[in-house]
Amino acid sequence: MTREEVYNFSAGPSVLPRSVLERAAAEMLNYGGTGMSVMEMSHRSAAFQEIFDRAKASLRELLAVPESHEILLLQGGATLQFAAIPMNLLAGGSADYAVTGRFSALAAEEARKYGAVRIAADGSADGFARIPRPDELSLDGEAKYFYYCENNTIYGTQWHYVPETACPLVCDMSSDILTHPVDFSRYGLVYAGAQKNMAPAGLTVVILDKALAGRELPCTPKIMRYETMIRTDSMLNTPPCWCIYMLSLTLDWVREQGGVAAMEERARERAAILYGALDESRLFRGRARKEDRSLMNVTFTSGDAGTDARFAAGAAARGLVSVKGHKSAGGLRASLYNAMPAEGAAKLAEYMREFEREHV
Ligand SMILES: *Cc1c(COP(=O)(O)O)cnc(C)c1O
Repeated sequence: MTREEVYNFSAGPSVLPRSVLERAAAEMLNYGGTGMSVMEMSHRSAAFQEIFDRAKASLRELLAVPESHEILLLQGGATLQFAAIPMNLLAGGSADYAVTGRFSALAAEEARKYGAVRIAADGSADGFARIPRPDELSLDGEAKYFYYCENNTIYGTQWHYVPETACPLVCDMSSDILTHPVDFSRYGLVYAGAQKNMAPAGLTVVILDKALAGRELPCTPKIMRYETMIRTDSMLNTPPCWCIYMLSLTLDWVREQGGVAAMEERARERAAILYGALDESRLFRGRARKEDRSLMNVTFTSGDAGTDARFAAGAAARGLVSVKGHKSAGGLRASLYNAMPAEGAAKLAEYMREFEREHV
């Protein structure tokens, strides 16, 4: 298939804006008259430093990150942060974890190796189909931090409110950063793997309140110490240079499109198209409770694994690819990140109706 024939609904790594890929292609062999690719240049060179500074400055501008917070560009994926967070922030205390899906469950499990973990909410009994209400959170007034995952990529639920806690908030925004404005002054730490909305896999953005750095457990590896990474401006060792370059191009694109507020408007538009089709469907039903539905990952099922598989295959044959659900949840899932045009959501909704006419 040609690129023009494909709408990519992959949950991650996922679709990037075409113009970003075109610019990377145009600059592939010779970046800015340096005679080399960004992949080939020293991370200590002036040309790369300029790319790095621009990526950071764009993040700060587009996300309105306050000066109290540092932006780190790290390796290790979101999963490394499952360990780095407790190693840096949990010494001598306990942390509250809201478990609303697979990634927050994994984060809580990892944190237990380094200190005391309290489960502030556990959605497993409901099949992770919903987000706890504020009055359902069991909060420890003495907790070192409260941890949650804002968008549950696998189950298709999303927190549509920011929890009120006495302690710093720590949030995994891997699958919804850059898709809506965030008040970072309310957070101790926010982190996100880049491969859902920002860049290729291999880069993790961490935005943290500088006041929280320097409290790590003595055993914390140097590469995982926030204090060290702040001091070295994320360059204790070689950073993920190519991913940082790609991030800077994606951020240019977000700015051209009208910024994060415009991204949110489009996300609402795309999601409304698919949820509208689901709400009318006599074959498919959404898996998440309505109030808690994700604007990023639409999860649904016919209730029959064979029918779901036929739908995913039929969709793929029409260029609507990667709508199979995560293996741990089954069913179907369409991921609608920033680079997905509304037309993609409309085509998938149209195929849902067509498939339904043939199968009901
Ligand atoms: C994809 C994802 C992760 C895991 O990311 P890795 O970079 O593969 O470690 C964690 N949390 C959320 C919310 C995700 O969507």
